[in-house]
Amino acid sequence: MLYHYVGPRSIAARSGAAVCGVPVSTPTDLLPRLSSGNVTVTFVVSAEGTLLVADRHSEHVACAGNRPVRAAGEMCFAIERGRVVVTRVSNQSTGYCPEPDSWDAVADALRAVGLEPTAGFDPRCEFRRCVACGWLNLVKHGVFECVGCRADLPDEYNAQETPGK
Ligand SMILES: [Zn+2]
Repeated sequence: MLYHYVGPRSIAARSGAAVCGVPVSTPTDLLPRLSSGNVTVTFVVSAEGTLLVADRHSEHVACAGNRPVRAAGEMCFAIERGRVVVTRVSNQSTGYCPEPDSWDAVADALRAVGLEPTAGFDPRCEFRRCVACGWLNLVKHGVFECVGCRADLPDEYNAQETPGK
């Protein structure tokens, strides 16, 4: 599954088409970011399956250069016994709103560069678009209620659909 950017257009416009995410091809690529021993980054997995990372406060759409992605979220790394390890991965990206099912793309991308995936997303985010008002919700605590208008949110993932459909 490819996820398209569904966040505010102003952010996408500001990001432009330049890919600010840096491809990771071996765990040592991450060492410059790990000067304090651990780091949290913004990541995407590109359509080609490449893991791209950027500074934590970067927008996912900028990390991906406005392109569709297989996964997006935040990733934490640390150094344990001299090796780079993944300590936490989330699918928290309000720009792409990827499903928990995007985990497989993350695990494949990590293994491809010699990093061991964690057990799964933490937090494991569920995104839903409100059918009544179009708001993109990050469902919290299993409460499927729109923060914009309090309408019930659908059971099925729909965050990639355009509003009004
Ligand atoms: Zn709503």
